[in-house]
Amino acid sequence: MMTLDTEVLVIGGGPAGAACALALSRLRRSVILCEEVSFPRDHIGICLSPGLFKQLEFLGVPHVLEHPAHRHGLTFERRWGAIDSALAPSEVLVADRGRFDSDMLATVASSSARVLQPARVAKVTRFAGGCVANVATAAGMRQVRAAFVVDARGRSSGHRARRRLGAPTVAVHGTWRGEVRPTVLMSSNGSSWVWAAPTGTRRSLAVVFTSPDALHRLKGSLEKRYLRLLEEADILERGLELVSPPHACDATPYLTEGGETGLLRIGDADAALDPLSSSGVQAAVQSALCAGPVINTLLTPSADHSAANDYWSSRRIARSETHKSWAAERYAEAFCFHGTEFWKDRAAAASAARPSPVSPTLLPFPDQLLMLSDQVTFVEAPCLVDDLVVRERCLFHPNLDEPIAFVDGLALRPMIKAFAGKTTAAQVVTLWSSFYTPEKAVELLRWFWRHQIAVAC
Ligand SMILES: Cc1cc2nc3c(=O)[nH]c(=O)nc-3n(C[C@H](O)[C@H](O)[C@H](O)COP(=O)(O)OP(=O)(O)OC[C@H]3O[C@@H](n4cnc5c(N)ncnc54)[C@H](O)[C@@H]3O)c2cc1C
Repeated sequence: MMTLDTEVLVIGGGPAGAACALALSRLRRSVILCEEVSFPRDHIGICLSPGLFKQLEFLGVPHVLEHPAHRHGLTFERRWGAIDSALAPSEVLVADRGRFDSDMLATVASSSARVLQPARVAKVTRFAGGCVANVATAAGMRQVRAAFVVDARGRSSGHRARRRLGAPTVAVHGTWRGEVRPTVLMSSNGSSWVWAAPTGTRRSLAVVFTSPDALHRLKGSLEKRYLRLLEEADILERGLELVSPPHACDATPYLTEGGETGLLRIGDADAALDPLSSSGVQAAVQSALCAGPVINTLLTPSADHSAANDYWSSRRIARSETHKSWAAERYAEAFCFHGTEFWKDRAAAASAARPSPVSPTLLPFPDQLLMLSDQVTFVEAPCLVDDLVVRERCLFHPNLDEPIAFVDGLALRPMIKAFAGKTTAAQVVTLWSSFYTPEKAVELLRWFWRHQIAVAC
């Protein structure tokens, strides 16, 4: 059997696997990515959150969202019981996921990383210092020998030890034909919520999220139950026609438990978010961007491996917890209106949500004397410096998610010296303007003030 050698084997070519392979090849690591199926392939996660633009810019591939198959500038309406809301069209993107995932993988193939596709990783045998994977390709079986494995197989990764992060949820989705408004619609009901989005000329997708019990209690075929839930939501325009029978899939959020040396799980293989936020793709890419320097550190013999492992653990838990509280708050809004068990279960985490930092005013007055809040503490914590994870002296405050050593990529340590004596806001800006631009200095002061890290004397 032909054997291929690499430093990192990435299994799965969805957004997480592709972004991780790109991030690692930028760090000059050799990578082989195996994707089981030929692209384009359909995927249900089509409403993409705006944070993805920045991530793709960071990876140097912003053009993948420019394809005309993606629909920018749609309006968004959320009918959420008592609270209806809308988003600016600039914040809504309905992607052709087949196109998006294909184009992401094409950027990997044109980097220094190697892509095998279709290539199913059938078995991975681990040993001290690496692994050997058996890979079924169109040209026959191959062996890939790697020092590190990244599992980016999505929900199908088959890892059993998963901790549920929310109530069991099932999604039923179908494609519709007919004229629709250029609007993404979202609506809540007694025991379900629904979103519908235009996906092309005279085509749209409508997805119902409910509990497995509620779906079970409805009578008839899956199609009948799907139509019934959509009817309750009153979200579809008249005259639409269902193109093919609907499908059901699991949409329960979870976090994978337990780590293994020489292997990281990223994207949905590691953690799946509540689908309410439509930010699964952004979170999958986020985990890939975090995994890049973590793996780079673990593959550098002289680097601090325990810092890398701690950094990875804290980031993935923080990401999941933040999102869980956010989703629970939205569910609590709907619970106030519908008052049913469906929403009560989902809103349960809302009471534990940390209040967001209070911002008294946007900026202090120029002559305001400032000092560091007495709630600020300094701790040794792992953080990212250049391409490696290291332990640094970090600042912590209850208004922050985690200890930090940098704000917006800038080291905090020199900034903090400004609060050593009695300094006015204007003096802080003048001092910081000697290292950064005056605009940046004002922006940084706004951040210190908004998080109440700098407070009035
Ligand atoms: C009902 C539902 C609705 C959603 N809606 C949205 C939404 O609107 N917006 C959003 O941002 N997110 C949404 N999501 C979530 C989003 O789709 C996922 O978070 C995202 O696709 C995760 O990316 P990934 O790369 O981790 O996994 P995936 O995109 O699932 O990719 C995994 C890849 O691994 C490959 N693979 C699997 N096994 C092997 C193997 N053995 N060998 C080689 N390759 C393998 C698969 O073929 C696949 O291409 C939704 C999820 C659900 C369940």
